[in-house]
Amino acid sequence: MNMNNFEFEDVPSAVMLSGGLTSAVLLSFLREKELKSSLKAFFVIFNPRQVLKEQKCVEQLAKYYNVHLKILDISSLYDGMTVPSSLDFQKFNDYYMPFLNSVMISVVAAHVYYIGYKNIIFGTTSSASFHYPDCSLEFLKAQSKAIFYGSVSNLKLLTPFLNSSKLEIMRMAKESNMHIPVELTWSCFVSYKKPCGKCFGCLERKLSLEILGSGE
Ligand SMILES: [Zn+2]
Repeated sequence: MNMNNFEFEDVPSAVMLSGGLTSAVLLSFLREKELKSSLKAFFVIFNPRQVLKEQKCVEQLAKYYNVHLKILDISSLYDGMTVPSSLDFQKFNDYYMPFLNSVMISVVAAHVYYIGYKNIIFGTTSSASFHYPDCSLEFLKAQSKAIFYGSVSNLKLLTPFLNSSKLEIMRMAKESNMHIPVELTWSCFVSYKKPCGKCFGCLERKLSLEILGSGE
């Protein structure tokens, strides 16, 4: 797959960000499209700890790519749920937040509808679909339909990276000579100070940075 094969209408669009490397690649990709219509970034807080690091990264990325940012806080939905102190590949399901993507996409859809935007761009990859049911192709197709038919203006949910793994996305970014500001991104699921180096987020980041040819 080539990222440039992904075409969509140049209409006011929202882009959902997490603060990780894929967010930076997605913003680079959208900026290279030179869209004439407005683009607004969204960050949904589902865990208060995200304010400590991920929110800062999203704010820095939005500034770097000159995109207006809206933050929506739904963390009270998940009161009492904690992130495990250690997280390895086998225990990945420990970090399943019930219906998280469904809720995040829905709250963004509600806001996007309110401001009259037409598209929601969500940069989830096939790597995430492997781990979480609400990142799967089946789920996202259903969610996309629900948003389209559930909105008078027929909002569209677009997932340009869904058929590629995270590492494939990094390869495409490298091949497209994208400059990715890796220092403005965060991948660790466990720590919000120094990356733990052990969790799946950290391990995947290490491989991603090797592909991008960036150190940190
Ligand atoms: Zn980590």
